[in-house]
Formats: sequence, C-alpha cells, structure tokens
Amino acid sequence: MTAGPDAAARLPLPPVLMYHSISPSAEPDPHLLRVHPDRLGRHLRLLRSLGLRGVSLSELVRAADRGAARGLVGLTFDDGYADFLEHAVPVLRRHGMTGTVYAVAGRLGGANDWDTGPRFDLLDADGLRAVAAAGQEVGSHTMTHARLAGAGAAVLAAEVGGSREVLEDVLQAEVASFCYPYGSFDAAAADAVRAAGYDNACVTGDYLPGDRFTLPRSYVGPRDTRAHVLARLVRHRARLGLAARAADRARADAPAEGAAVLPGAVGGDR
Ligand SMILES: [Zn+2]
Repeated sequence: MTAGPDAAARLPLPPVLMYHSISPSAEPDPHLLRVHPDRLGRHLRLLRSLGLRGVSLSELVRAADRGAARGLVGLTFDDGYADFLEHAVPVLRRHGMTGTVYAVAGRLGGANDWDTGPRFDLLDADGLRAVAAAGQEVGSHTMTHARLAGAGAAVLAAEVGGSREVLEDVLQAEVASFCYPYGSFDAAAADAVRAAGYDNACVTGDYLPGDRFTLPRSYVGPRDTRAHVLARLVRHRARLGLAARAADRARADAPAEGAAVLPGAVGGDR
C-alpha cells in the first residue's frame, strides 16, 4: 500500500472497546470504571460467537495497514489498574485474545489520584513486565493522566515523549500505542504523538473520522450486557459505512484534495 497523504484517512477502522478496571470488587465505583471479570468473559464470548477476535491496538493497526483487519476488534484497558493481571489476563487467555493496557508512566505502583473518590491501585513496573510477558500490550497514557488539548510544547514533550521513554525503560521494548487521557487532544497533541515515535493513538468516543493517531473507541461500563456491546459494534459499522460513503463523495467532488480533517473531541469519559 502506498502511504499517500490520505493513507491514514483510508485506514479501515475496526471497532475498539474501552475498559478500565476489571475486578469482582463491590466497593463504590462512582466513575463507573469497573467491569466484573465474568462480564468481560461474556463480552468476549459474544465476540467469538460473532466470529470476531479481540486484539491489542498495535496488532489491530498493523492488520488494518495490510487490509486484514476484518474480524478483529480492539480491546483496550485504560489507566493500568493492578487488577488487570489477576482478573483480565486469565479471561483474555481463555478466549485466545489480547488487549492493550495504557499505563500512566509517572504513577506506576500508585493510584488513580487524578480522580476524585475511591482509589484503585495501579500496576507497578514488575506488574507491567508481567503484563507484557503474558502476551498483552503495554501502551502509554501520559506521565500524569494529563489533559493534552491546549497543552504547550514542553508539556506535550514531557507527557507524550517522556512517558514513552519511561515505559520503554521499564519494558526494555518498544512502546507503540498511546491513549489520550479524558479523550482530550488537539492537532498539536496528535502531532506530538507522531513525533515521539508512537505508531497509533486512541481517543474517547465513537466518532468519525479518525485516523491512526485519533482512533475512536466505544466505552464499556459496569452494567453493559452483551446486547449493549453488540449495539456498539453495529453502530460502529453503520458509522464506518456512512464515513466511507462521505469520503467517496468528497473524492468525487474534489479528487485533488486528500486531507483528512482532524475531528473535535467528543465524549468525556476517562
Ligand atoms: Zn484514563
């Protein structure tokens, strides 16, 4: 495939599901971050029954580059909660699937102190290495869970590039995937992600258009059933069809114009 100016816009975007904590805990969860592992298992069984396989974001984007993403769904787990190792990895393994955990590089072994309310433990460096050793992907979610829209060059360099350096040092491996906290980004933030050497990045909210540095996602919450997940997959497919038709019309109207328009952020989930 040639990498023309609109190559990113042509990337066929498979659906990406967004989870946070995976835990059987019944402690208060006001921000709706926690999905029970049995529920995650039901969601993954649904994917299998539909002939779909959940994969990490780097695998998903590599497949999309080859035009081979059909049948794949991205699985993402924001913030790097410690429960991922105990409660998500066994479920993913049972179903032969992988996912991407986005760690807050400056808070390893700490807690989600960017949220008001209850604290959930975060994976430490050993935990991240164990996640990687279990065949799952570790991506970056900045140094401090920062909002990046409107951030200046120094903040972007520290949060985006600095977090990649920390995680690569921990893992002794390349970190390819990035996730904007709160889905907060703008053109400068996306440029910083690209410049820092990442391969892909995802936002919050299922909107279009997106490209490999603004991949849309669908939030999955504590009470979402298989029917909810199915509805999100269907909606994604419908919106993808609409976007493809709009792109075809735009190309027919103005064949010399290939620029993709960076979308505004939608949705406010963390
Ligand atoms: Zn987050």
